[in-house]
Amino acid sequence: MLKSAINCVKLHSKICVNLQSIRCLQLTPDYTQNSYKVTRGNYNLLKDRHVDFFQSLLGKERVLMDENDLERYNVDWYKQVRGKGQIVIKPKTTDEVSKILAFCNDNRLAVCPQGGNTCVSGASVPVFDEIILCTDLMNEIIHLDENSGVLVCQAGCILQNLNNYVSEKNLLLPLDLGSKGSCHIGGNVSTNAGGLRLLRYGSLHGNVLGIEAVKADGEVIDCLNTLKKDNTGYHLHHLFIGSEGTLGFVTKVAIQCPTQSKAISLAFLGLNSYEDVIKTFLQAKLELGEILSAVEVLDTPSMELVNEHLKLNSPIGNHNFYLLLETKGSNEEHDQDKLNKFLELVLNKKLVVDGTATTEPTKYNAIWSIRERLPEAFALDGYVYNYDLTLALEDYYKLVSELRDHVGDRSHRVFGFGHLGDGNLHLQVSAIDFSNEFKDYIDSFVYKRVKELNGSISAEHGVGFLKAPYLNLVKHKSSVSLMRSLKNLMDPNGILNPYKVLPY
Ligand SMILES: Cc1cc2nc3c(=O)[nH]c(=O)nc-3n(C[C@H](O)[C@H](O)[C@H](O)COP(=O)(O)OP(=O)(O)OC[C@H]3O[C@@H](n4cnc5c(N)ncnc54)[C@H](O)[C@@H]3O)c2cc1C
Repeated sequence: MLKSAINCVKLHSKICVNLQSIRCLQLTPDYTQNSYKVTRGNYNLLKDRHVDFFQSLLGKERVLMDENDLERYNVDWYKQVRGKGQIVIKPKTTDEVSKILAFCNDNRLAVCPQGGNTCVSGASVPVFDEIILCTDLMNEIIHLDENSGVLVCQAGCILQNLNNYVSEKNLLLPLDLGSKGSCHIGGNVSTNAGGLRLLRYGSLHGNVLGIEAVKADGEVIDCLNTLKKDNTGYHLHHLFIGSEGTLGFVTKVAIQCPTQSKAISLAFLGLNSYEDVIKTFLQAKLELGEILSAVEVLDTPSMELVNEHLKLNSPIGNHNFYLLLETKGSNEEHDQDKLNKFLELVLNKKLVVDGTATTEPTKYNAIWSIRERLPEAFALDGYVYNYDLTLALEDYYKLVSELRDHVGDRSHRVFGFGHLGDGNLHLQVSAIDFSNEFKDYIDSFVYKRVKELNGSISAEHGVGFLKAPYLNLVKHKSSVSLMRSLKNLMDPNGILNPYKVLPY
């Protein structure tokens, strides 16, 4: 039986966590260069005369060299990788980025672009001693066209700040991630981030209309188009979307913001089996159609995690699977009628065992917290090996069970959750600590199975450093070869984010 009827409320600002304030329990990892088989490229070491140049351009306060300051820029949030960067540089303008990159290129100094450093694939921190070029101070909102909803801003704007800004004009950013309080829009674009709103608004390849970026040699590429339709020539800005800082440094972004919905509802459902999860999802697509805005799934161990580490409870007791369905529309009565009919149907068909639905903001936030704070919970569960996969719905949960059998009692737990609506599974294995041998054992199993199942080894987190060795396994050699040609064309000295994306 449904625990609460839908009642009507207007405000829906989801919780926002600044990840810098949350400590990942995992110990600081060993230096990447010690843990992985990777050889330093032929780049110059940082010299005093290089530092003098950066300081004369930006002033001493925007050039960090103190070891204590550097640590948080050298280690990723999940503490999977650790670089030995000796300098962090914080430009404010495109012109400064251009001068810095031109200098680095001329002096063969490798550079690691960094936004909010919330990356999950080990791409945002140096592998060796790359210079960290950070967008912390590039946080200016340049223009919002209220008629078209197109927002133009610098790359270092924090996603949540942008969302707050446009929400005053009844708009919202077309992407929403658990890391929104820390990640930068430039980092989002560079990773082609997906997240919780992709089902409804599509990917950044559709929503980002234009980009300004600086090439490795310092040339500014202005593709900062703000038109929804522009078919003049090659669509160059797409090259920077998802290229993880290897083709250019993104300095400005033009992004289309949809209008906020007047009516928002959330249902949280308990189910017995994964088969019922698929059937319920298909029924939701049929019954809720255009108002369906998010479909997320969690399994039992995922719920146990948030309960154990964050004291968040399921509002509907314990079940094998949980589905979170959100609807957004323009007519409250119409939308609630549709949602109620859908819920009645899936309960009568016994696809759903129990559930709750709400439009009340406190409850809405509490339910979303269970899903959004999961990464925070597993960061407190020992070392977590994480996989971000796309699989056909019929294979989606099969891999979780297979991996559970494969690792046996070598892990605390193997669990799966994710953006079911996009076929995006976050498959996780938590263990006491990191072991290279165990990582290889899981990696080879998971990636081989994903290839057999025609899935993707990176749905939304990118390839970064950690998955680069597997690119050849899943991409045709003609694609990898064209990627290399593009890299050579745009960054012939290979100074931009080396050892990332392309196999090293
Ligand atoms: C709790 C949590 C929840 C998350 N949820 C999601 C989710 O739902 N969906 C999702 O897709 N991801 C998610 N992520 C991953 C991460 O937040 C995204 O990949 C995000 O887009 C990274 O943005 P960032 O500013 O932190 O970039 P960083 O981590 O700093 O960098 C990411 C990559 O982009 C490059 N880069 C950064 N800025 C620039 C620039 N200006 N120009 C060129 N290259 C640049 C870096 O070199 C690196 O390769 C989550 C992470 C955490 C910790």
